[in-house]
Amino acid sequence: MGKVSQREKGRASLSIVMDGMDSIGPALRQVLQRIAAASSRRAHDLPVVAPRLVAVSKTKPVSAVIEAYRHGQRHFGENYVQELVEKASDPQVISNCPEIKWHFIGHLQRGNVSKLLGARNLDMVETIDSPKLADKVSSAWGRCGGQRLKVMVQVNTSEEESKHGMGMTDAVAIIQHVMERCPSLNFVGLMTIGAEHDPSKGLNPDFQSLLICRQKVCKHLNLNVEDVELSMGMSHDFEHAVEVGATSVRVGSTIFGMRPYPATQAVKKVSGGDR
Ligand SMILES: *Cc1c(COP(=O)(O)O)cnc(C)c1O
Repeated sequence: MGKVSQREKGRASLSIVMDGMDSIGPALRQVLQRIAAASSRRAHDLPVVAPRLVAVSKTKPVSAVIEAYRHGQRHFGENYVQELVEKASDPQVISNCPEIKWHFIGHLQRGNVSKLLGARNLDMVETIDSPKLADKVSSAWGRCGGQRLKVMVQVNTSEEESKHGMGMTDAVAIIQHVMERCPSLNFVGLMTIGAEHDPSKGLNPDFQSLLICRQKVCKHLNLNVEDVELSMGMSHDFEHAVEVGATSVRVGSTIFGMRPYPATQAVKKVSGGDR
């Protein structure tokens, strides 16, 4: 019980003795190999660039982040604002991980925007899901000056009530809004979480929907398909996601070990808690 509640708090402390710290390096290498193998199975019309791996470190201590960084990992994902901010400002992370790039992948409430944007080394917000949120993020980021913030628009491809994200038809409108009305934001792609899908049952309909959504977006907004990233695929299906065209996959438990609760539940927990 003690271990679980410590992890749940997400309090990153080097003093927590973690099982599996030794396995992070090998697990990371294996995931990268599986991504490379999946890329080589892609249809020839898909770009050959290696997809980005975002290591999802939620509920795991900073020692796990540092260990993965030591093995070459640079992109990390978190889905709670508080947890990302704490890890990003941890003195151990600051000194050991100077080139770390944080991705926010959870539901973002407007009230938490300033807090999130204050995080050191924030690289991307993958979960813009309304024009109002985009406005808020843009104006808050604009006050910081400097480069535009990379953002993705989250699409609710499965149209499930419990999940956040724009419906497919609204995606074009919000992206247009970001491009025309949010001068501090740099639209880089589309993100989906999707419903549970058994890869042995064939193509994941959520991945297919995101691909169709990108086509639609590109056609309406006159963008190149190569310029619009797709963030899709997690531990249980990242290879399939890469095969069909993901440019960024978000993998947690396969690298860091199981969490006290499964990914989908974590996602729902976030959604539920925010209402
Ligand atoms: C937790 C989470 C992941 C990673 O899930 P795993 O199954 O552990 O790989 C990916 N994306 C989002 C949005 C998440 O919340």
